[in-house]
Amino acid sequence: MTISKIVLECPYCSQIHEAEPPDEFHSAYSIEKPIPRSYHGEVVKKKHRCRNPECEKQITIYWYAPLDYFNRM
Ligand SMILES: [Zn+2]
Repeated sequence: MTISKIVLECPYCSQIHEAEPPDEFHSAYSIEKPIPRSYHGEVVKKKHRCRNPECEKQITIYWYAPLDYFNRM
């Protein structure tokens, strides 16, 4: 399995961003805290700054391993 970048929209201005998962296990992401017990192990929090110069808001991405991860293998 290779790590592929994801594309997400800034929740404030819809600027498109690319983000890279911290590892192949944390393949799912959310810009809100995932619901407890909907994921394996730890959530990896990463902060991004919006690259739109008129926005520049900080976006927190929560990377997690979804519970169905092993079912998909
Ligand atoms: Zn923005």
